[in-house]
Amino acid sequence: MAESGQNDNFRTIPPPFSQRCGDYRIELFKRGKRSYEKVSYPIRCGVYHEIVTPNAVLHFDLNHQLIRLIGKQRDWPHPQEWLKRTIGNDWIYYSTGGYTGVFETIGEFYLPNLPYSTNNHLGGTPLEKEPIRSLIQDWPQEIGASAAACSGYSEEIDQAIERIREFTPASLAEKAQTLHRIVDGPVSVLPPDTRHVDYQVIPLNISLGCLYKCGFCRVKNKRAFSELSVAEINAQLDDLHTLLADNLINFNSIFLGQHDGLNCNPSLLCGAVELAHRKLELGASWISGSNTFLFGSVNSLLAAEAKLFDNLEALPGRIFINIGLESADQATLDYLGKPLKAAQVSAAFKRIKSINETYRKVEISANFVIDPELPDSHYQAMLRLIRDEIGTVRDKGCIYLSPLRFDAPSRARLFDFYKLKRLSRLPLFMYTIQRL
Ligand code: SF4
Repeated sequence: MAESGQNDNFRTIPPPFSQRCGDYRIELFKRGKRSYEKVSYPIRCGVYHEIVTPNAVLHFDLNHQLIRLIGKQRDWPHPQEWLKRTIGNDWIYYSTGGYTGVFETIGEFYLPNLPYSTNNHLGGTPLEKEPIRSLIQDWPQEIGASAAACSGYSEEIDQAIERIREFTPASLAEKAQTLHRIVDGPVSVLPPDTRHVDYQVIPLNISLGCLYKCGFCRVKNKRAFSELSVAEINAQLDDLHTLLADNLINFNSIFLGQHDGLNCNPSLLCGAVELAHRKLELGASWISGSNTFLFGSVNSLLAAEAKLFDNLEALPGRIFINIGLESADQATLDYLGKPLKAAQVSAAFKRIKSINETYRKVEISANFVIDPELPDSHYQAMLRLIRDEIGTVRDKGCIYLSPLRFDAPSRARLFDFYKLKRLSRLPLFMYTIQRL
């Protein structure tokens, strides 16, 4: 989904260098894919270092920090499943889900199983099970064994392993804390559209808080909405550049936080996109194209002048804006504690439709809630928008459904989801709520 067309690399990447040391193999600067693709086999994007041991495959970013683990044991659940470590230091287990229904449900071929409860309606708890749990714990021993096996074969390999060994689990956690200090705490939720780049985004706050403080919401903070100054945005960008250092080349996307970037002054919003592209050199990433992701609200969308979208269209890369509509039914909005009128939600939906039809690079998606306890009027109002008002089937402007409860997987809830998916004329998926 990234904008096509390869970027010019902004720094020279050394050529790949590979060494076999008995049962171990190391490849430095391994070239992965240059674009994110939705395919039913695992693809590795970016440039990375790889160590293969008898027990596991370990991947490291260009700062020598662990990013991926794949078990080679017989009891590893599936050869095409893997563990990813995010820059927020969360482990995520990507499972095939038996290849049944995963793509239809979340729009991706692999199901990210998370270490927190926001997606319990999907998948299980593989992170708590063997041998996944042990690999997350024991990977430093794999590196220790690789260092012993590969020592003295070449200077490049010795230096790379030495740098890799500097990043213990504790120092990786500290790096994540540094990221969180830069962006004012962990990012409680990423826009669902960041799935298009496997959630591989650099967070940058241009505002804090949100407008509504809805009763139902589990990701909000206590802050009233406020914009950051250009100086504050610049300072974050400098700190992010320092933190991500040599691995910047593996990012082509930013998330402009926090919960309502669209409510910012248009010049601040557009200026931040340009500044981030320039300072983080997104247009020169190893990964093709570039993308900006942000959230908006019903009020910020309705208040935005048409000129803003013209200006966004003219900026580098693609722009994905996600709007939390939640419901077009007044009884449900009141139940959710969302201080909006149903008519405002319907007007926002009309605007989303019109923007998606008008612009090529700007795409707006929307969220609705689902729950078995919600009245029929909620589902009828939703279908009036996503089926009746759309006319013919479209592939732009996804609708994401968010369960109100993050409890155990529910067949009834998935049944409701598939029923709605069949009726929707827009792409419809469950919202995979990821933090950073
Ligand atoms: S749903 Fe959005 S606007 Fe409402 S409280 Fe949560 S973050 Fe704020």
